[in-house]
Amino acid sequence: MRAFVTGGAGFIGSHLVDRLISKGHGVTVFDNLSSGKKDFIKHHMINKNFNFVKADLIDYETVLKELKGHDTVFHIAANPDVRLGAQKPEIAKKDIIATYNLLDSMGKLNLKEIVFSSSSTIYGETPPIPLPENYGPLLPISVYGAAKLAAEGLVSSFCHSFGMKGWIFRFANVVGERGTHGVIVDFIKKLRKNPKELEILGDGKQKKPYLYITDTIDGIFYGYENTNEQTNLLNLGCTTSTEVTRIAEIVVEEMGLKDVKFKYTGGKRGWIGDVPQFQFDIKKMSKLGWNTSYSSDEAVRKAVLDLLDTNL
Ligand code: NAD
Repeated sequence: MRAFVTGGAGFIGSHLVDRLISKGHGVTVFDNLSSGKKDFIKHHMINKNFNFVKADLIDYETVLKELKGHDTVFHIAANPDVRLGAQKPEIAKKDIIATYNLLDSMGKLNLKEIVFSSSSTIYGETPPIPLPENYGPLLPISVYGAAKLAAEGLVSSFCHSFGMKGWIFRFANVVGERGTHGVIVDFIKKLRKNPKELEILGDGKQKKPYLYITDTIDGIFYGYENTNEQTNLLNLGCTTSTEVTRIAEIVVEEMGLKDVKFKYTGGKRGWIGDVPQFQFDIKKMSKLGWNTSYSSDEAVRKAVLDLLDTNL
């Protein structure tokens, strides 16, 4: 396959690119490097099966031009910062237009496959039950979640209108090597500055499933290769979850620190739009034969070790 990976220089995107290349596929990375890093893909630059385009999905003409000649689109690009939405809601507008430009170009060029990275945030504030893919109503509480839900709608409707096939993966919190944002990165940065005290957003009881990066990439390929509806909707997560205070303890342990004072900012949410607790139902993926190799706590610990090896 000749794959077009938007956001391919980012955390998840660059791991996806590694896997595509290792499977022998041709890859074009289309990334504006707003949060991605050329460093994450530099090992492919000499590969003749690899092509890097530094551009923004907002630029319709460039998307249309660069997309030509590809078979499958992996749409991974988005502003990944859920916290930002309450200060800068325009990030939603940009991500929705980006998704529209991509799908519209696919329609014009007669491209037939799109794999999209959605998120648990589309579910909004829900009862404390494992959430199956058909849970509703979907009322996101973050602008980020709203943009993902809008993009899911666009993917589904373009699939129906233009005879395309779509795979929508709703990711849990993905962690691991090359992570550039999120709670683990935040804690490591803070503790490197001040190893005596750690500020924790909220009351520390926020509890979510954490998925290790290799499990995420395995899951994407497994879901893509083993489902065949017009629009395939899949939760990608694990059945266990980890409290924020536990993450702090793991980071402290792995940094070899002692007597760190945890200072909570208070309230049940870490920020406006934060869903404090959620759990995925991943029966659909497990029925296909996929499961994670790591529990949520194991994923957190492995990611801490990966990230402690880097400068961040
Ligand atoms: P990331 O910031 O590392 O990757 C996003 C990439 O997209 C970056 O390389 C960035 O430069 C690029 N990008 C953003 N806007 C662009 C645009 N308009 N045009 C071209 N390139 C653009 O983030 P990530 O954690 O790897 O997330 C990847 C995807 O997965 C995102 O869509 C994110 O919303 C989604 N997601 C991530 C998580 C997670 O826990 N990391 C959870 C759920 C969903």
